[in-house]
Amino acid sequence: MGTKTFNSNDIYHFEELISQEDRMIMDAAREYAQTQLEPRALEGNQDEQFDIGIAREMGDLGLLGVFIPEEYGGAGSSYTAYGVINRELDRVDSAYRSFVSVQSSLVMHPIHVFGTEEQRQKYLPRLATGEIIGCYGLTEPDHGSDPGSMITSAKKIDGGWKLNGSKTWITNSPIADLCVVWAKAYDGGDEDGVIRGFLIERGTEGLSTPKVKNKMSMRASPTGEIVMQDCFIPNENALPDIRGLKGPFSCLNNARFGIVWGVVGVAENCYQRARDYVLGRTQFGYPLASMQLIQTKLANMVTDITQMQLLAWRLGDLKDKDRATPEMVSLAKRNNAGAALNIARVARDMLGGNGITGDFRVIHHMMNMETVNTYEGTYDIHGLVLGRAITEIQSFVPRGNDQ
Ligand SMILES: Cc1cc2nc3c(=O)[nH]c(=O)nc-3n(C[C@H](O)[C@H](O)[C@H](O)COP(=O)(O)OP(=O)(O)OC[C@H]3O[C@@H](n4cnc5c(N)ncnc54)[C@H](O)[C@@H]3O)c2cc1C
Repeated sequence: MGTKTFNSNDIYHFEELISQEDRMIMDAAREYAQTQLEPRALEGNQDEQFDIGIAREMGDLGLLGVFIPEEYGGAGSSYTAYGVINRELDRVDSAYRSFVSVQSSLVMHPIHVFGTEEQRQKYLPRLATGEIIGCYGLTEPDHGSDPGSMITSAKKIDGGWKLNGSKTWITNSPIADLCVVWAKAYDGGDEDGVIRGFLIERGTEGLSTPKVKNKMSMRASPTGEIVMQDCFIPNENALPDIRGLKGPFSCLNNARFGIVWGVVGVAENCYQRARDYVLGRTQFGYPLASMQLIQTKLANMVTDITQMQLLAWRLGDLKDKDRATPEMVSLAKRNNAGAALNIARVARDMLGGNGITGDFRVIHHMMNMETVNTYEGTYDIHGLVLGRAITEIQSFVPRGNDQ
């Protein structure tokens, strides 16, 4: 029998729902995040620096591609294990979680699921240790929420493919050794214009990955472009088993699942910092924590966090049973990222002027959440995905233009 206690960090005892095996992974990730990442987080954000050593440390700890089978260097763990890792990293800085998301869900996952055995053997073990770093190129300068309109092309030539085009907003691209790029393939046959995946190695002639400058969010995460000018990609670097948008969307669904869990950590951290602050700060002769307006803010936060925790857990449970649908992921990504952004903004306000400094860490989360609410499908786009599922009417384009 469990105890009957009120724990304002976990009101519904949701951590008890996590299996013992996954909780051990959670504890290891928490220990690493709090002792190794936290001391480097403020500086990394301010200096816009991603320490490459962190990738190797995470690899050594087994935090990369945790759901990939052991024979390819993963841990063969559950998706919930992946979720709990994300929660611990996001609690410190979503920039590091973004690194893990991209490496695990957007690079290792497609190679594992859609790649050849040679591709799996060649890349997965080194991605799992962090020896090589991957990135994922879907978004283009003129094609974001609507990736199906992409113009990056892969033309069939002798022995391989010639890629032209550019991708932007690509996490890790400036430091990546391997780019998973989605392009429209033209082989002169029935599949002309069909989206396919390609693996482009650093050093390929015609490839460059300039950095996106002046980011005010996710500053420790290197973001850049992938520019391809007549890049020759040998046949063995095309992903053989996938055609169309379901390839990139399958990767995104995994990464969005990770976000659902990750932002729970952000929200919890912002709430805990705000609670500690108002308990310690006195104004008008009384602790801020005793003021009604402050208490209702805290009550709203823990209510939202409880919903986020339970949603994340249930989605993980369904995903581990192979029962999670893309709509379930959309609902949870939209809800949890939106709620975390809101909690971060309210926490920032509760810290007054101190909330403006990086030292109190809340504004750092707040800025990161602007990205998380936008990438991997914006808040509104996931609303449209849900709207389509509910009504069976799509509203991505204005009415009358969708015939
Ligand atoms: C820091 C960062 C890292 C990223 N990392 C990656 C990465 O690694 N790989 C990658 O491929 N991409 C990445 N992205 C890109 C990200 O996925 C896109 O920014 C996102 O999909 C939105 O596309 P967009 O920026 O072109 O916005 P747009 O699609 O132009 O949208 C602009 C606004 O219009 C709204 N909107 C769009 N269509 C509709 C509609 N039909 N109805 C109503 N409203 C609509 C959107 O909700 C949004 O509010 C990253 C982005 C950021 C900021």
